[in-house]
Amino acid sequence: MTETTRPPHRIRIHAADNVAIVANDGGLKAGTAFSDGLVLVDTVPQGHKVALADLAEGDAIVRYNVVIGYALKALPRGSWVHERVMRMPTAPGLDGLPIATVKPPALAPLEGYTFEGYRNADGSVGSRNILAITETVQCVAGVIDFAVQRIKAELLPKYPNVDDVVGLAHGYGCGVAIDAPDAVVPIRTLRNISLNPNFGGEVMVVSLGCEKLQPERLLPPGSIPIVDRRGEAAGSDELDVVCLQDDEHVGFMSMIDSVMRQAEQHLVRLNARRRETVPASELVVGVQCGGSDAFSGVTANPAVGFCTDLLVRAGATVMFSEVTEVRDGIDQLTSRAATPEVAAAMIREMAWYDAYLEKGRVDRSANTTPGNKKGGLSNIVEKAMGSIVKSGSAPITGVLAPGEKVAQKGLVYAATPASDFICGTLQLAAGINLHVFTTGRGTPYGLAEVPVIKVATRSDLARRWHDLMDVNAGRIADGEASIEDIGWEMFHLMLDVASGRKKTWAEHWKLHNALVLFNPAPVT
Ligand code: CA
Repeated sequence: MTETTRPPHRIRIHAADNVAIVANDGGLKAGTAFSDGLVLVDTVPQGHKVALADLAEGDAIVRYNVVIGYALKALPRGSWVHERVMRMPTAPGLDGLPIATVKPPALAPLEGYTFEGYRNADGSVGSRNILAITETVQCVAGVIDFAVQRIKAELLPKYPNVDDVVGLAHGYGCGVAIDAPDAVVPIRTLRNISLNPNFGGEVMVVSLGCEKLQPERLLPPGSIPIVDRRGEAAGSDELDVVCLQDDEHVGFMSMIDSVMRQAEQHLVRLNARRRETVPASELVVGVQCGGSDAFSGVTANPAVGFCTDLLVRAGATVMFSEVTEVRDGIDQLTSRAATPEVAAAMIREMAWYDAYLEKGRVDRSANTTPGNKKGGLSNIVEKAMGSIVKSGSAPITGVLAPGEKVAQKGLVYAATPASDFICGTLQLAAGINLHVFTTGRGTPYGLAEVPVIKVATRSDLARRWHDLMDVNAGRIADGEASIEDIGWEMFHLMLDVASGRKKTWAEHWKLHNALVLFNPAPVT
């Protein structure tokens, strides 16, 4: 059906809601009449809210069965309800929250699903076979970039089972207060990224020499699992470090030679890795959204939530994140915690982040972007309600502080900023082998370290960005597919992508964003 013939269509999430969003591409003009007699008082853009009842000044505006704001003036039925005509509620307190009160019925196990992955010595499973070069400090980034180009051109063709070579460049490592308590966050993030399942335990470090973040501090003895490689003697615990300031280096090319010589040793071992059939429970999937619009919480995120439940039923690990996008729904999360300890950890992370934002004299409302608002999301409360649905309905079994590595199965809350690049970086550290990213406004986001499956919230975006979006959840709003249909499609796509049978569009075009470490500690 073309847009010119598509009848006026609006979507209400919950029966108690007094607003709905306009679904039609291009929005609807003032005077448009819906089949039930509702007539638009104003022109309402796509994804924006329309009042379903007469609202008086001060009345609660309800979406997702949650108060997302209060009317700043009378809004007759059919009015456009946007951020300038509503006041945002205050954030819920962190005391007296419901703790582990919701006991969802146990989800039936989902058995028999497998993928082809790279089994690691520490028990984790990779979806790609990548040589990662860990950098202790930003100073070496240019040298590594140069070396990586040479490795790709001269060495990689000799090792066809290795997918890629990636320098783990970042902005940290020196000029920072490294003994500040919060420095633990960027340091453990970088350590745990080096141990991501896609790198096969082949940790290789390049250091400058004089930097604050010394290699032994980044990866102390015992932090790398000792690998017994196919009958060879167990690997030594000695860290493989190339130090650019070493006396042995005379001239730039001698540095490059050192990096390439060391890299080749790792490539030989990585090249011997083979995919094997493993259960779907070995997936570790990180979900996040970015460039959100009002459809995010209607199409893509509920479909991700359905898929999250499928993954949990299959015994996999799924993590959701983005503190400022769950803060307003904290009561929903503490009540879904599997144990009081999990709820307490959730509250601890929210309190830490509240204090962090307060230090910068802002609150969680600093999250929303001009694009969010243009896409119909009036404030952070509305955005958060649409974001939380990515977590599905399973009990929450664990909480990770920023940069920590996941150690359990099931649904895990990994506390991260909502910033797309920082969230992705912290989820890499948490040990994801797949990343799912939903977007309404559109972003070409990608990661060099793990495949990113991108999900469009609207068909218009999926059509225009047909070679950037992997899944079109907009078909839900179009009435062409159900939330369950898209959720299953994502689940099967994840198994294909994790197996290397399919590449995501970001992989196809080699699009990836920089690692951005979260450093809440001072720089010097
Ligand atoms: Ca995000």
